[in-house]
Amino acid sequence: MRLLFASQNEHKVAEIRALMPRGIELVGLQDVGYSEALEETGNTLEANALQKAQFAHKLFGYNCFSDDTGLEVPALMGAPGVDSAHYAGPQRNADDNIQKLLAALQPSKNRTAQFKSVFALIWDGEAHLFEGIVKGTIVENPRGIGGFGYDPVFQPENHHQTFAEMHQQEKNNLSHRARALEKMLAFIQEKTRHF
Ligand code: IMP
Repeated sequence: MRLLFASQNEHKVAEIRALMPRGIELVGLQDVGYSEALEETGNTLEANALQKAQFAHKLFGYNCFSDDTGLEVPALMGAPGVDSAHYAGPQRNADDNIQKLLAALQPSKNRTAQFKSVFALIWDGEAHLFEGIVKGTIVENPRGIGGFGYDPVFQPENHHQTFAEMHQQEKNNLSHRARALEKMLAFIQEKTRHF
């Protein structure tokens, strides 16, 4: 059975392909010859994940899923949230985003934050949502060179290192994406037990 991941990010596709149960062939948008960016015009992570999955499902007909992630900071009323990728502007630059975040948090004592990932799966025509959260704090100065996005300033709860200071495998094991993905894979495993 073919399962389509509505993502142009080949790195993510390869990572998730390695985790698929037997009998499922995971393909990305590039594998099905689609090279345009997918629209994300929703106001929530859930809406955006559903929008991308439903669009790709309509276009290709396969069971299909998509993901959307944001960093949520209570002292900033949930920002950058759904705007995480372009928080500091349309250039989508990670350093600019971090600088804007640190400046916005400077007057605040509460530096708690969470990453939230949402996977939207269209399976046999029905939509299912899976959520993964990792709680932590925003450190005062960026630390580490690994990862991407806000990793240098996000320190997960009960850890002394930021995501960017951790080995990739360590981050992957506890990340918001891994937690949401685990739930979705358990669902798919259950549905395909007989394969
Ligand atoms: P996406 O929905 O996975 O494309 O993520 C949207 C934005 O959230 C990215 O452009 C990053 O700025 C941020 N982000 C998502 N996942 C992570 C992560 O694991 N570490 C740091 N930043 C992330």
